Amino acid sequence: MKISVASGKGGTGKTTVAINLALSLQECQFLDCDVEEPNAHIFLKPKIETTEDITVYNPLIDEEKCTKCGLCAEACEFNSLVALPNNIIFFKELCMSCKACEFVCPEDAISEQRFSVGEISIGKTHDSIEFVNGLLDIGIPRGIPVIQAVKSKIKENSIAILDAPPGNSCPVIETISETDYCILVTEPTPFGLYDLTIAVEVVRILGTPFGVIINRDGLGGDLSVEEFCEKEGIPILMKIPFDKEIAKAYSEGIALVEIKPEWKKQFQDLYAEIERSVKNHG
Ligand code: SF4
Ligand code: SF4
Repeated sequence: MKISVASGKGGTGKTTVAINLALSLQECQFLDCDVEEPNAHIFLKPKIETTEDITVYNPLIDEEKCTKCGLCAEACEFNSLVALPNNIIFFKELCMSCKACEFVCPEDAISEQRFSVGEISIGKTHDSIEFVNGLLDIGIPRGIPVIQAVKSKIKENSIAILDAPPGNSCPVIETISETDYCILVTEPTPFGLYDLTIAVEVVRILGTPFGVIINRDGLGGDLSVEEFCEKEGIPILMKIPFDKEIAKAYSEGIALVEIKPEWKKQFQDLYAEIERSVKNHG
């Protein structure tokens, strides 16, 4: 069972839901795919056992063989290669590792070099949660290879909880893809509703079964998220109240189920409901 936890915008409580679900289930894997700013480790406090460098393909041009014909730059759809009269300039940050340049080069002047984009850390928490953390190198705009590396650690027959990046961009889609269920976390505000509507479109296109959790329920008394879910036939899986004690604990790196253990049962019930929904969907 692979469950992704996503939200149309940052700061809605996506990580809160993901970590509390993991802490309530315990025998599971937690995968932090929020590779630009992973923070689940602050709450889960895993003991890291190994780290792996994540590298991607980059073209390496052999200056002696290169005739400056410019075909590689023409083939590059990402403007990563630019042909000048006497030089070929390579912008590694733009390269998508498609290898088209190497394929078209008539002089066999392009070979492979590896370029580091980030790392993953693997460990375990004291309560048997297997933890995988992805971290993108600073200034690198390519989260997807790191997310793919994190996801490659999912074990067959395990319960895997994937904390997605915020927003609705490609790294989010990469995280949600091939998961069995997606929890969309939102807050009861007009901004929350706006971003939720986009996130709903994304999961519908992906064909992933999903439900909504409303975090900070009661904040401002706005009911538009609930009305939207009712109109669209989207299940509201849980409501987490707007509560200063929960917010204070979060700011100190303490999870909801640690200050209010009675919530464990609610998260276990949430998992059971998701399991039923996935069985019905499949
Ligand atoms: S296609 Fe090959 S020979 Fe032509 S400019 Fe590129 S690297 Fe040089
Ligand atoms: S590998 Fe693809 S994206 Fe990268 S430089 Fe070559 S053609 Fe461009």
